[in-house]
Amino acid sequence: MKNSKFINTARRNPAYRDTSGLYDIYLKSERNRLENLNRAKAHLKAVMVFPNYYGVAMSNLGFLRAYELINRSGFMSCDRAFMQDDLSKGVISLETRRRLKDYDFIFFSLSYENDFVNILSILSAEKIPFLSKDRNSGFPIIMAGGVIAFLNPEPVAPLFDLMFIGEAEAIFPDFFEKIKSQNEPDKYEIINSSAGIKGIYVPSAYDFIFDSKNPYILSEIKNTKGFPKRAVRRWTDENLSFSSSVITTEFSELSNINMIEIERGCKRGCRFCSAGFIYLPLRESKIDAVNDAVSATGENEKAGFVGFGTMDGKNIAKIMRFSLDSGKNFSLSSVRFDCLDENNLDMIKESGIKTVTLGIETGSERLKKMLNKVLSNENIITSVGDIVKRGITGIKLYFMFGLPHEEKDDLDDTLKLVKEILKEFISVSKANKRIGKLTASFSPFVPKAWTPLQWENFEDLKILRRKAAYIANGLRNMPNLDVNINSLNAAFMEAFFARGSRLSTDILIYSFLNKTSIKKAAEDKGYRMDGFIRKIGIGELLPWDVIDQGVTKKYLLKEYKRALDLKTTPQCFEGCKRCGVCA
Ligand code: SF4
Repeated sequence: MKNSKFINTARRNPAYRDTSGLYDIYLKSERNRLENLNRAKAHLKAVMVFPNYYGVAMSNLGFLRAYELINRSGFMSCDRAFMQDDLSKGVISLETRRRLKDYDFIFFSLSYENDFVNILSILSAEKIPFLSKDRNSGFPIIMAGGVIAFLNPEPVAPLFDLMFIGEAEAIFPDFFEKIKSQNEPDKYEIINSSAGIKGIYVPSAYDFIFDSKNPYILSEIKNTKGFPKRAVRRWTDENLSFSSSVITTEFSELSNINMIEIERGCKRGCRFCSAGFIYLPLRESKIDAVNDAVSATGENEKAGFVGFGTMDGKNIAKIMRFSLDSGKNFSLSSVRFDCLDENNLDMIKESGIKTVTLGIETGSERLKKMLNKVLSNENIITSVGDIVKRGITGIKLYFMFGLPHEEKDDLDDTLKLVKEILKEFISVSKANKRIGKLTASFSPFVPKAWTPLQWENFEDLKILRRKAAYIANGLRNMPNLDVNINSLNAAFMEAFFARGSRLSTDILIYSFLNKTSIKKAAEDKGYRMDGFIRKIGIGELLPWDVIDQGVTKKYLLKEYKRALDLKTTPQCFEGCKRCGVCA
């Protein structure tokens, strides 16, 4: 990817090895839409930390949104900090080059489980004790938010004084109210009183007791008196859900794209997708607000429409039309086959989009029903033809393997589908006299908390390796087809943390301090890795039961049973109250 190369080249250049030098370049490149801020008036100082590099952080709308909201609070200024190549002199912020330990508040934005180790690198570089219980009032208040913080906070919960369970727009106003009046923030007063705010979780107020005979099984979650039994997720209403990039830069992985959130949540109910459940209900941004953000997109920028099922919204055609009529090209974060009518496809073409990305997951009709993502293979093949007919020559397809109850026949169905799509792709491309590239990416299935498939196991690595080889061999040497098989080890680590508990925190810290792998750390501490990726009993208490997401466990279980029976479930509808989210 051009921008990643650009970022890496800048990082490798000896002139920019020094973090401050690199940050000068980044700041110079930014187009900042956060105007009229009087940061000098703010008496408290916060820093938003993304535990990965600048380029990744700046393509994350949640990170930018929280940064914006804090800066707009009026009483608290907010800088940004990132993972750095050189941590020997500590971690500094982008804007003021202040060290993290010198802020009043440190907010971590968590988007990927595999970034957890970077949190430890950052805290260690700043000589900040890892565990909340080991930090006295001389240290900043350290908090975490973002999708991973409220999906299953437990593997990193003991590191934080507070965690935000849900959406920043909904929780921040009450939290800000709590601290606004304090000239010198009293750490313990803020932590304890915040527990009363819906959407805030104070991990130190909860004890997790594991079964004495089987350490992987949780027997009890005990809350300290005065703290709620469960931290309740909080979400915004439609009017508040809208956000867009307040800063754009060529050094972001989404170079110069003004990300515009056109919807939040997803009505489809795909059973493997955690975001599809923890952002319910579906809310659409107001069309006027979206159009204003499109108009604010700069000359050298594109409007990037962001959402879980970007083309699901009722206004998508109007939004795309407005963008084109305003002379702004757009991109779409995801495209659903069943939303690609002639009109939408023409607008995608008109916008100059060269590559369309489509999540297919599997070619097996049986497994599609289990996943509740039923698009017929015939329709998929026809849609690819329709896209290519319009001269869009790059198609990226995403599949999963290692799915629950997957058989050889299911993998064969997927391979057959890829070959049929490729045949259509080449035949239509030939008629166009221009053949592009079809890319098929395969990722191992990772069971995620708060999904109906959360009780299933992560596939044994040896079997996964065999399946990966089978896929690679089955699609070897095909013209115009690139096959990517994503890292099995990275997926294994994601699976270890995704349904982890406070045992995972111990293992993570031990692994960091002893510079050893997570697997070796787990073994040294007397655990087996398969205990963390196993199939979970449906009656078991789960570490993430400490959160009330709105979606009930009972509903997820019902959906799990329907998955096993290969029964599909219709999407959200007017008047539906089945999952617990809509009152
Ligand atoms: S209650 Fe029904 S409509 Fe509301 S989020 Fe749940 S499934 Fe969707």
